[in-house]
Amino acid sequence: MAKILIVEDNALNIKLFCDLLAAHGHEPEAVTDSRNAIDAARQFSPDLVITDIQLPHVSGLDLIRMIRKDEDLSGVPIMAVTAYSTAEDEERIRGAGAQAYVSKPISVVRFAETVDQLLKDSSQDETAAVVDDPANDVADGPGPDEAGGEEEA
Ligand code: MN
Repeated sequence: MAKILIVEDNALNIKLFCDLLAAHGHEPEAVTDSRNAIDAARQFSPDLVITDIQLPHVSGLDLIRMIRKDEDLSGVPIMAVTAYSTAEDEERIRGAGAQAYVSKPISVVRFAETVDQLLKDSSQDETAAVVDDPANDVADGPGPDEAGGEEEA
């Protein structure tokens, strides 16, 4: 289960995204006004942010940049959802700091797969940080336990 913040001004899309995420066992929270998104993210502390690009007030691209610059939120993966997806758009979205984007109208399968992949990638990043600890290198090689196979209870 992951906490996922959705920033989207379209009520039907919010319903669709929330239903999809809940069906996959996640805990979604939606913000319709992007001006409230940073405060909501700080409070909710999401594992993933899904943001529309075409938003009134603060655009999705600006919001992505704000999240990337935020002390508390900079490490949170971001998935953008956009009605336009030329190669140039994708470049701008990734350049702003989103890891992935899905174009509207969304494919339910692609949406769910992209969410899963981003959550998996970010949990692997955390694991990688632990593996980098030199103390753990010993466990990677053939150790004295290899032949014995004695397991601790
Ligand atoms: Mn919109």
